[in-house]
Amino acid sequence: MALFPQRFVDDLKQQADIVTVIQDYVSLRKTGATYKGLCPFHGERTPSFHVNRDKGFFHCFGCGVGGDVFKFLELHEKISFPEAVKQLAQRFGMSLPELEQNDEQRAGAQERETLLKIHEVAAAWFSAQLASPAAARVRALVANRGVSDETGTAIGLGWAPSQRESLKTALLGQGFSLPMLLRAGLLVQRDDGSVIDRFRNRLMIPICRDTGAVIAFGGRALEADQQPKYLNSPETPIYSKGRTLYGLNLSKAAIRQGGFAVLVEGYFDFAQVFQAGVQPVVASCGTALTPQQAQQLRRFTGKVVLSFDPDAAGQAAATKSCEMLVAEGFEVNVATLPAGDDPDTFVRKHGRDAYGERLRRSQPYLEYMLDRTAAGFNLRASDGRAGFVDAALPILDRIPDRTRQELFVKEVAARAGVSEDAIWPRAKKAVTSHAQSPSNSQLASLSQVTKAEKGLIWLLVHQPGQALEALGTLEPADLEGLASSSVLDLALKLNNDKRFSPSVLLERLSMADAQIVTGIASESEAHAHDAAECARIIRRRRWERERSVVQRDIDRLQQQPNGSTSAEIETLLMRKMDLIRMIEDLN
Ligand SMILES: [Zn+2]
Repeated sequence: MALFPQRFVDDLKQQADIVTVIQDYVSLRKTGATYKGLCPFHGERTPSFHVNRDKGFFHCFGCGVGGDVFKFLELHEKISFPEAVKQLAQRFGMSLPELEQNDEQRAGAQERETLLKIHEVAAAWFSAQLASPAAARVRALVANRGVSDETGTAIGLGWAPSQRESLKTALLGQGFSLPMLLRAGLLVQRDDGSVIDRFRNRLMIPICRDTGAVIAFGGRALEADQQPKYLNSPETPIYSKGRTLYGLNLSKAAIRQGGFAVLVEGYFDFAQVFQAGVQPVVASCGTALTPQQAQQLRRFTGKVVLSFDPDAAGQAAATKSCEMLVAEGFEVNVATLPAGDDPDTFVRKHGRDAYGERLRRSQPYLEYMLDRTAAGFNLRASDGRAGFVDAALPILDRIPDRTRQELFVKEVAARAGVSEDAIWPRAKKAVTSHAQSPSNSQLASLSQVTKAEKGLIWLLVHQPGQALEALGTLEPADLEGLASSSVLDLALKLNNDKRFSPSVLLERLSMADAQIVTGIASESEAHAHDAAECARIIRRRRWERERSVVQRDIDRLQQQPNGSTSAEIETLLMRKMDLIRMIEDLN
């Protein structure tokens, strides 16, 4: 992808006043140094959405979103970074620099345009076929599945007739070339060289980007012996299965408004749930969710209710999707249905209210996992209880924070009918191995950031000179294991490259880390006067940690019977004295 020169992006940020831009969407009131308003990303009645004009960022204390002016547009308008840059440049009268595009890139862009056009025309053509007299039987089948005309129109249902070349003839007649139609995946070349329609005698379901542009089709078989049951478009330059969430185009507004998304599996699950008025629904379409799909969703919400088939395959997919979503920082609930039902059949049999009730009674993921695990053991027998504890402890690994880990151990103990003390020694093993894994640091939340770190981060945004000087006195080992280490590391690195500014820092951080920074920078309590003091506290903590490790080693060695360890103990005692002196000198 062509990139904008950093200098241009920086200039634009200078021009594009964040208060002016956000005021197009949110009414803001000046209170003290910042502007406040009702958050456009979650429903609220008292304003917790803050905009800091001088520093060029926004942050919501309600839902945690935050970032710079580009991020605001990306999230609010659901557009990409380059699109946000273009939009702002236009608005603030800056001409875009010539993008360096080579011939290949230009040709690629042109090809994608043509492929989108082909899909738009094909979708309209399939719909027209479904409305034709020849499709009476297909319309009856759709009605039989409980999909109303209105829903059918909303999701853009169509019909591919049985003839081999009907779409081909129609699209060639519109002036598209045969190679492009093959590239779009709508035609296939057979072994004998002839080119025919890929989709024949199928109910056609358009798959769209969240902007509504059709990029692929799913085709459902209409005859009992027709294979496969679902035939999908192949991957093309405009369509990647693992990056597309079905139905996001129809549901994104409701997802943002409701603050959560219901995730179902198939097209008909989607149609039925959507039709029932549970608007914030999307479908993964058959497979476990990918991280790319999760990122699509994250633009609209951080909360997901999974509503999958309760059969074995459904549960395996549900477990995988849950784990991925939890790892990506989503809050995940699981709604279970009676065996044999999927959302499609359940809504048709029991109606929207019963389904809504299932969603309301959905369980947090951990509880759901414990239930599933417990179901495999006889908890009345002692070896059943032991087996349950063995099976449940690895789940601890997936719990990002300490409080929830403790609740989890409590719950496992209660279910197994043993004391927590019996479980903790083994649980601790699971937790320590977890604490060292790098993915854990990504899940660090604001609550784990200490006051001293907060003070430094606050100053990094508001008085960077002072903060960077203090940060410069710290060593990498001082930052190790801190919840904000990735933020402070990056700040140091940018400073070494002479590139540090609060806005570059925000741009480079991951979404989660950027939210930590905007959160702290908007907090008046995090305001620290003395960066050097914060740095001293951080260093002292590291030495205190080291001192307790040394002390533990000494205790351990002293308990050993023979005197062969005395030299070792001597060395440790010296280190301990050094540490105590260093800690005292810092005070
Ligand atoms: Zn919010």
